[in-house]
Amino acid sequence: MKTRIVLLIMMAGFVLQGCGVSAAFASDAPETEPAAVRAPAWLEYEGSRITLLCSPEVSMRRLEGRLRSRWFTVSAAERDLSTNPAYSVEQRVLARLESILLRVEQVLGMDVPSLRLKIKVYMTRDALSVECMRMYGTAERYRSFYVRALETIYTSMQDVTDSQIAHEMAHAVIDDYFKVIPPERTAEFLATYVDSHLEDREWDE
Ligand SMILES: [Zn+2]
Repeated sequence: MKTRIVLLIMMAGFVLQGCGVSAAFASDAPETEPAAVRAPAWLEYEGSRITLLCSPEVSMRRLEGRLRSRWFTVSAAERDLSTNPAYSVEQRVLARLESILLRVEQVLGMDVPSLRLKIKVYMTRDALSVECMRMYGTAERYRSFYVRALETIYTSMQDVTDSQIAHEMAHAVIDDYFKVIPPERTAEFLATYVDSHLEDREWDE
């Protein structure tokens, strides 16, 4: 599912304005919030093309398991990076996500090496819906979506799979590749094609 909403830009402007107002009074506020009210920080893992942002409740081992349902060809180096227990689970997950992005580019025949993506993983679909409401003001219950203006894929542990990530990455690659973004139905057709043909050997290099 792809979401291109101009409203986001307007809302971003609104939020920035809000920040400006509160900054003017920053010196009156205590320097740190009491620990009891501070929400646990999101965890951030940086790869070469992908930055993974996880809600603090997300188990990286569970996430790794959810990204291993598709078996397309990868190079020996990629396989090592994404499966070798000598690497940390965070490194393996990032390597797997980078492999999926490369595969998506292969299937589409579109190389966009400058594309950098963020992937934000909420704990539940409910939590993702709350974020969607905060961003767009609409009560949608998407399993995942891609926001082009932020180059970010949004998903949750409840629904994330490598198939779904490949679909959203396809939207990101298509949007980045074309100077004129294709019609939404065409982009959806291509993204669905990528997901369902990820393992086809004809894309192997
Ligand atoms: Zn889609």
